Amino acid sequence: MSFSGDVKEELLRIQPEKNCCMLAELSALTQCCASLRLAGGGKIRVVYETENSALAKRIFLLLKRRMEITPQLEFNRHKRLGGRRLSILTVPEADSRRLLIALRMIQESEAGPVFKGVPRAAMTRRCCRAAFIRASFLGGGSVTAPEQEYRLEFISSAARSDTLIKMLEKSGIEGRVAHRRDGEIVYVRRGDDVVSCLALMGAHRALLDMENTRINRDARNRANRARNCDEANLKKQLSAGESQAQAIVAYSLAHSLSGLPAELQEIGRLRMLHPEASLEELGQMLQNPIGKSGANHRMRKLMEIIRE
Ligand SMILES: [Zn+2]
Repeated sequence: MSFSGDVKEELLRIQPEKNCCMLAELSALTQCCASLRLAGGGKIRVVYETENSALAKRIFLLLKRRMEITPQLEFNRHKRLGGRRLSILTVPEADSRRLLIALRMIQESEAGPVFKGVPRAAMTRRCCRAAFIRASFLGGGSVTAPEQEYRLEFISSAARSDTLIKMLEKSGIEGRVAHRRDGEIVYVRRGDDVVSCLALMGAHRALLDMENTRINRDARNRANRARNCDEANLKKQLSAGESQAQAIVAYSLAHSLSGLPAELQEIGRLRMLHPEASLEELGQMLQNPIGKSGANHRMRKLMEIIRE
């Protein structure tokens, strides 16, 4: 199963207990998965459709427990879904209006009913915000596997994006909107925000997976950086040693080294033989070994004479 699938499976095991949270969850699921079928005479029916049968079961139970509504359940195999089964829950006419009013999704206006809004508690209480965001994810969310880039997104619409972004913001999570041909997406991209979002929704197992991967990856990156740094130093040392050796060879061909002070001749000859050696190593090769700074001093002196 995909990482998104794992997260959804984990989230479906969390049952909202409080009345306020059940309503917040129903609100999000109604926005994500339901459409309103308008009949004549102001009659409305709320119809939920989802390919996820576990989610259909959850919507069914929420309607029953929170609203005492028994929706009619049907299954449909859709050609456009490649033969996958679609669960369809239809709320009876008599209950649909009551449901929409409870969800604050219906407002009467002169031009007829206007559908918008969310239960007030969903905006103000943390428990309800968590329930709303969790249900939005269940209804139309996805998250990339932690090995890839961090990205968590919700299928949204022009009417819903603002609400979702405000709710994320109140939980300290930065959400952004992307416009697609077929609607809008609200997405969370920073690693910390994706982690906060998973925590808020209650996907703790997924969170652990993600943190582990992140820790491993960071450790790997640090090791790579350290190795690259060593390699760069090594290269620098090699090229410095090589250019010294070349300069000494050129000087000895033109002038011979025998006119130089004995300690400079010695280190010069060693350098020609060992262009790859560090100064510390060269110092140790001397007849009377000296440390790195001594070797450095001698080499500098030699180079000054050679370059004059
Ligand atoms: Zn609540």
